[in-house]
Amino acid sequence: MTKANIVTYLRRCSGAELIEILGAVLPIRPEARSGNGIQDLLVLCNAYRLEDRSSPYDDGWMFEPVADQYPGAYEGRESGEPFLQAGFCAACEVEVVSHVKRAQCPLCGSKVGCT
Ligand SMILES: [Zn+2]
Repeated sequence: MTKANIVTYLRRCSGAELIEILGAVLPIRPEARSGNGIQDLLVLCNAYRLEDRSSPYDDGWMFEPVADQYPGAYEGRESGEPFLQAGFCAACEVEVVSHVKRAQCPLCGSKVGCT
């Protein structure tokens, strides 16, 4: 498999499959490390902002980590909707998005209920 094949595959696969693949890789990449009082972790995020940059409500880019399905919460892999579910991880105090309602926070591993 070539790098071009991998890129083509990742461009066309479902969001559920994308987070399954990247969720298995990003947390164990060498960039995920701790030291000097800082913990680094790579995660897939949904970035969004207002299209109207002149709006008084414009806060610039906002980021929501993308959460995969919680282990054991479903029988097999759920295809779900493309990251249209949203929930709040109380442990991390961050909003996450997912393709499923029972998701796993990519930062701490907690179960997150999404709606
Ligand atoms: Zn969390």
